[in-house]
Amino acid sequence: MYPITYPGEKVRMLYSVEAIAARVKALGEQIAKEYAGKDLLTVGILKGSFMFMADLVRAIDAPLEVDFLGVSSYGNHTETSGVVKITHDLSCDIEGRHLLLVEDIVDTGLTMRYLLDFLATRHPASMRLCTLLEKPSNARSEIEIAYKGFSIPNEFVVGYGLDYAGRYRNLPWVGVLEFSLTSG
Ligand code: 5GP
Repeated sequence: MYPITYPGEKVRMLYSVEAIAARVKALGEQIAKEYAGKDLLTVGILKGSFMFMADLVRAIDAPLEVDFLGVSSYGNHTETSGVVKITHDLSCDIEGRHLLLVEDIVDTGLTMRYLLDFLATRHPASMRLCTLLEKPSNARSEIEIAYKGFSIPNEFVVGYGLDYAGRYRNLPWVGVLEFSLTSG
């Protein structure tokens, strides 16, 4: 049993530490190749992407800069609120730069649609999306994902930066959150 547990909740492993590391390495190599010679600015969408972002930029063997954009989405619930709030803006000017947005998970795509439209008003040279996970519900909002870690079933996942009510972010792998009557 993994030590991070909360009463009445269990996490079923979906992607191990090794599986994530292998995928992140492959994504990093692809990104380094495709952005060769470009002024790359990677933008982590907080809070969920912090762990993925840290591993991904280390896997990109090319010059780049790092910035973060804070957004709030779910609150303490497992369903989207549909409301996107910027909690922390970028710290640099993005005009004329090649942006790579780094997200933990694209579900309905509402958050990403909002962010892409919001950032487009600042005239970057290009904007692409790299997400660790994608749920099939994104098919409805048609967000274009240039780099994707894994497509997952329509279940609520936690770990590797993703939370439930602020918890589980420090779990080193990704798993499905399950509620049980007994604790442990
Ligand atoms: P969307 O706007 O695409 O529906 O949702 C995007 C955001 O919802 C993600 O950045 C993430 O914060 C949250 N989210 C969506 N699905 C999940 C999930 O399965 N687990 C967790 N922890 N967050 C999720």
